[in-house]
Amino acid sequence: MGYNDSGFLRPRPLSEPTTEVEQRILEVCPAVNVSFPENEPHYHETWGPIRVLLLAHAADDALRHRASSGGALSAILGRLIEDGSVDGVCQIGADPELPVGNRSVVSTTLESVRFNSGSRYSPSAPLRRLSELKVEGRRFAIVGKPCDISAATALSRRDGSFRTHFPYMISFFCGGIPSIQGAAEVLRQLGVEQNDVAEFRYRGNGWPGFAEATTHDGTSARMSYNDSWGKILNRHLQLRCKICPDSTGESADIVCADGWHLDPGGKPDFSEHPGRSIVIARSELGEKLLKRCIEAGDLLSSGTSTDELAQMQPYQAKRKQLVLSRLLAMKICGMTTPRFSRTHLLKAALRAGPTANLRSFAGMLVRAWRRQRS
Ligand SMILES: Cc1cc2nc3c(=O)[nH]c(=O)nc-3n(C[C@H](O)[C@H](O)[C@H](O)COP(=O)(O)OP(=O)(O)OC[C@H]3O[C@@H](n4cnc5c(N)ncnc54)[C@H](O)[C@@H]3O)c2cc1C
Repeated sequence: MGYNDSGFLRPRPLSEPTTEVEQRILEVCPAVNVSFPENEPHYHETWGPIRVLLLAHAADDALRHRASSGGALSAILGRLIEDGSVDGVCQIGADPELPVGNRSVVSTTLESVRFNSGSRYSPSAPLRRLSELKVEGRRFAIVGKPCDISAATALSRRDGSFRTHFPYMISFFCGGIPSIQGAAEVLRQLGVEQNDVAEFRYRGNGWPGFAEATTHDGTSARMSYNDSWGKILNRHLQLRCKICPDSTGESADIVCADGWHLDPGGKPDFSEHPGRSIVIARSELGEKLLKRCIEAGDLLSSGTSTDELAQMQPYQAKRKQLVLSRLLAMKICGMTTPRFSRTHLLKAALRAGPTANLRSFAGMLVRAWRRQRS
């Protein structure tokens, strides 16, 4: 994997793939193909499969503080390591050679899981080490973006032994991956030179916490989540993320997200609070794991509902509903469109109503037209 000119990670083939290999890649690549869980009795049209829906945070205060939201995701991973369900966790951590970037990490201790907590808003390739980890008798959990988990699920359909080696797949709601140039812009606005950066965190150390660059001489500069994600990073997303049909990780066993409190106007409140994660167990395996975490005292939880979820996550509530209109606009402009399950997207689109669909169709039409002219 390597950065392309736009600052996104792309595969760099070691040799020209054969037609057969290329076909296999196309079958699992989430930029081309995304399928949704079929015949799932707990399926919610907007949020995907829901067996259990909770608000939770890590019982460990230090983890809760360090992590992205409430540290629920890392607490769940910690349980898997502590009770020996897996030998390690395949996840993402900061790249020591490029502190704003990411590398794939295999954590085999609680300390490593905790160290690698926190969201990192730059390109990541957590699946790059899977073939090296597929060793007889070894088991790993995978943490990835929804598209990573979608790819891993597609792989598991082709490879019967996949889930023996990778029994747990954990994800999070995803607003999209910014290019590495987004991080460069954050550094520029912080007045910090890339070469001087010793450590870079996108958020955490509070909820939502700050994007913070620490330089080799120990000084640091930081920016609020609202300014970093809201005003810079989310302007560096790739097209695939803007038409993502699965931003809530429907194929994962468990997904976590920000359990935002609401301001007096009913909108998500991004001011600092003690961390709180939304946790959804989607599969039977995920439900059992979540139960173990609560019984062991790893997580402190309270109930919530899908209505509250829509208030805490208004952007995600609308996202899937607007994908079909965007795909249609792309098709009209002659652009290649991915093969996402149209039946699911049609049902979601019908919930959005005509005005929202028309608006999103027109918005994509303009973007696609500009793209073709540039
Ligand atoms: C690019 C991105 C976009 C997101 N968009 C949203 C959103 O729109 N709405 C929302 O509610 N939540 C979003 N999140 C998730 C959110 O920031 C928290 O991760 C989630 O609330 C869980 O928090 P936690 O404290 O339980 O997780 P933590 O305990 O902090 O664990 C986070 C886990 O995510 C892994 N991770 C971090 N960055 C990446 C990455 N780039 N690729 C793969 N794995 C990674 C870490 O290795 C760690 O295992 C996004 C996260 C990312 C990385």
